[in-house]
Amino acid sequence: MGNSISNLLSYDVLVSITAASIGLLLIWFILGVRSSNNKNKDHDKELFKQPLPEEDCPICFLRLPYLNTGSRYYACCGKVICNGCVYAPVYDDRGNEVDNPCPFCRTPRTSSNEELNEMEKKRMQADDRTAIFNIGVYYRDGRYGFPQDYTKALELWHRAGELGHAAAYRNIGVAYEEGRGGVEIDKKKSEYYHELAAIKGDAGARFSLGCHEACAGNMDRALKHFMIAVRDGHSKSLKDIQQFYGYGFVTKEDYTAALQLYQTYLGEIKSSQRDKAAAADEEYRYY
Ligand SMILES: [Zn+2]
Ligand SMILES: [Zn+2]
Repeated sequence: MGNSISNLLSYDVLVSITAASIGLLLIWFILGVRSSNNKNKDHDKELFKQPLPEEDCPICFLRLPYLNTGSRYYACCGKVICNGCVYAPVYDDRGNEVDNPCPFCRTPRTSSNEELNEMEKKRMQADDRTAIFNIGVYYRDGRYGFPQDYTKALELWHRAGELGHAAAYRNIGVAYEEGRGGVEIDKKKSEYYHELAAIKGDAGARFSLGCHEACAGNMDRALKHFMIAVRDGHSKSLKDIQQFYGYGFVTKEDYTAALQLYQTYLGEIKSSQRDKAAAADEEYRYY
């Protein structure tokens, strides 16, 4: 006996089996590449979509500015209120000016950390994403009587992110970038969380993504990120596009388009009330 399989099958049959296997492998490879291309396309479509704009101020109904000093969070009612409405005087029913209340719910403003913390903790229990995010920041910095605890901060930012807080995801991205809060440095995870933040509308996270793309020499992708960030009021991204133009990386049309996007943004956020606040105090600067 001792017949091997090649003795049993003719040479022609062996050749056709081999050819068929190679064919199948090729089809599998092509389908695999195509589906991963589609996946990348879908991913980019989602990533480079202009996010929904910041919420409007609940008092003047104008778009809230991107700049932090352009608005303030009130833990009494959980509202984010624009600098103009924060600065404007508030009157009671008799027309007397009330000293420093919440401009939305008129709760008297307290300067006691304990009272503010209690209010914010209550908001946190009610799943207020901004309160959860803020308390995470207090834990990160060991501020306002909270002990410094980066791990606790990360836990809270995950919760705030799931509730739709974009900057919470950016902070998680930074934790993975720097290896803080008990997580190892992980560039992939850092990018993943920066992307989540950018998709949800965090222009700062988008700027970081753009910078990474520029460093990798992917100027097209960098420009796409910066353009979206400029439309959402990120002036640093506009400066970078200006520099790109200076170096000849982007065209004059690109730079002009970026300037126009920034003007459109300014048109949405500017008001005389906000200008007045910004002129009175640098703390109320909003663009
Ligand atoms: Zn307002
Ligand atoms: Zn309030």
